[in-house]
Amino acid sequence: MTELIVAGAGMAGLAAAARARELGADPLVLEKSAHIGGSMRLSSGVIWRYASFDEFRSQCPDGDAALQQVVHERLDEDLDWLAGLGAVVTEDSTGNPLTVGRRFDTQSIRDALSREVTISSDMSLGNLSIPETIEGPLQHKNKFGKDYDKNAPNYEPK
Ligand SMILES: Cc1cc2nc3c(=O)[nH]c(=O)nc-3n(C[C@H](O)[C@H](O)[C@H](O)COP(=O)(O)OP(=O)(O)OC[C@H]3O[C@@H](n4cnc5c(N)ncnc54)[C@H](O)[C@@H]3O)c2cc1C
Repeated sequence: MTELIVAGAGMAGLAAAARARELGADPLVLEKSAHIGGSMRLSSGVIWRYASFDEFRSQCPDGDAALQQVVHERLDEDLDWLAGLGAVVTEDSTGNPLTVGRRFDTQSIRDALSREVTISSDMSLGNLSIPETIEGPLQHKNKFGKDYDKNAPNYEPK
């Protein structure tokens, strides 16, 4: 029985599913479109962080500092993990002295992350009924940081 459902086969969903698989889960990824990869399919495949955390904060002051710290400290290791899964590095640096990262072949990222994961395309999570074990409306933060009920599509922040 599938105990973990991941919504969306973009970079975030695929990475989460691949890691969950490593940890022993058997995730099912539901992708609403016919393709996997999301925005990454359009990107040039450079995954990077600022070289300096202070520079990161000054460029993105409204970001969550704790989350930014995690990205700053762990990204290099995570890129090793991605390469270890088989994603092909095409350039070892970003070419920008302010940033640290690598350029990957995006098709190989998709292949590496999806290799052992079950993916159903053309399947939107919104088409499924929510299991009874999840209580109450799903809460999301909108781009203004306010909570809203995703079931109220016309919600406008005040
Ligand atoms: C042209 C371009 C160039 C870029 N270049 C870079 C770059 O060089 N370096 C970099 O770091 N970043 C780059 N980015 C940004 C980066 O690609 C994105 O931030 C990243 O891919 C986002 O991944 P994600 O999984 O969070 O979201 P998404 O890629 O948006 O994936 C979400 C997935 O979920 C699916 N989905 C949505 N709703 C549902 C639902 N209800 N049920 C099922 N599936 C659903 C969508 O179809 C999609 O496949 C670029 C983006 C673009 C557009």
